[in-house]
Amino acid sequence: MTDTIFGKIIRREIPADIVYEDEFALAFRDVTPQAPVHILVIPKQPIAMLEQVEDGDRQLLGHLLLTVKKVAAQENLAKGYRVVVNNGEHGGQTVFHLHLHLLGDRQLGWPPG
Ligand code: 5GP
Repeated sequence: MTDTIFGKIIRREIPADIVYEDEFALAFRDVTPQAPVHILVIPKQPIAMLEQVEDGDRQLLGHLLLTVKKVAAQENLAKGYRVVVNNGEHGGQTVFHLHLHLLGDRQLGWPPG
């Protein structure tokens, strides 16, 4: 179990610009956007990081990707977008509640820093 700032957002203890919600997932705008559209898609279940997911999470993980696709359509990202999961220290993860970054509405460079 893990409780983070994202847990507080799920429980509405702190405000966030929520753009999508269903039974299993929540999506809200990143407070420090790295692109004109920068949205975080998270499971409501408090999984700390990708490294900790298990076989039983298969359906949830698929749901999160489908949620990204739905939110991207909602945000009119027809020209494309990037989905990022930072995992652990070297991945640059700072909030230990699994989240998918959805970045779009500008040309993104590669490789990332
Ligand atoms: P990570 O570095 O763990 O992959 O990404 C965490 C993301 O959460 C960062 O992009 C950061 O800007 C965002 N973030 C951190 N605290 C908050 C918050 O309180 N509200 C929102 N909306 N985003 C946050």
